[in-house]
Amino acid sequence: MDAIIRLEKLDKTYKSAGEPVMAVRSVSLTVERGEFVAIMGTSGSGKSTLMNILGCLDRPTGGRYFLDGMDVSNLTRDEFSDIRNRKLGFVFQSFNLLSRTSALENVELPMLYSRLPMTARQKHEKAMKTLEMVGIAQRADHTPNQLSGGQQQRVAIARALINDPVLFLADEPTGNLDTRTSVEILGIFQRLNEQGITILMVTHENDVARFAKRVVVMRDGRIVSDRLVENRSNAEEELRSLPAEDPLAAAQ
Ligand code: ADP
Ligand code: MG
Repeated sequence: MDAIIRLEKLDKTYKSAGEPVMAVRSVSLTVERGEFVAIMGTSGSGKSTLMNILGCLDRPTGGRYFLDGMDVSNLTRDEFSDIRNRKLGFVFQSFNLLSRTSALENVELPMLYSRLPMTARQKHEKAMKTLEMVGIAQRADHTPNQLSGGQQQRVAIARALINDPVLFLADEPTGNLDTRTSVEILGIFQRLNEQGITILMVTHENDVARFAKRVVVMRDGRIVSDRLVENRSNAEEELRSLPAEDPLAAAQ
């Protein structure tokens, strides 16, 4: 068995003032190594709650979660942060880069907390290579405010990849990007996935989900549909048919 994610009857109930909210209800799901899954659903259907649990940012209130074969349903905070650093890469809608820090330093940062026996020079080289992989090495010394949204997301992808995660998680990664830039980012995802990286991406847009290989739809905290994508979109092909980039933006 090569499952990266295995969820068994997972529940998450928020108990605050008033009625408890059952945000995730008895979700069972298996994701194998090398898959590219989009999680869809309208606002409030439980996507982010599920993502937070998958990303070891929050604990389920019931059921079990196995990540890369290990039961992570009930870990301590420290164990959670260790797992996040070693096994997971995150990308968010809002990029979440450190603002006064260069692209290169943003990408190097997760290596500071990892226990990899690497010299500063090796870390530097690995960060540069990862920036190259996502096509942004020429901006390595720029800070986020000197970069476009698409360029910032490339840096965030490099940062997410730097510790060789077993699972790459993206919550609405193209939510702040224009159409062409979105397809470029989805093209990077497709390329990474072809190289064997397992991807799980949350989106509420069909136009984004159709680049994945499999789509899981949630409603009221449950999975209501789970199917392979037919006639999957190929980002490279689509980029050829989209109008060229705005020359002003390209000159930046
Ligand atoms: P989605 O990402 O699909 O929009 P969420 O996972 O954010 O859905 O929310 C699912 C349900 O859980 C919603 O009813 C939401 O109001 C509720 N919810 C989310 N986070 C919390 C929280 N921290 N406390 C209480 N209720 C929450
Ligand atoms: Mg959400």
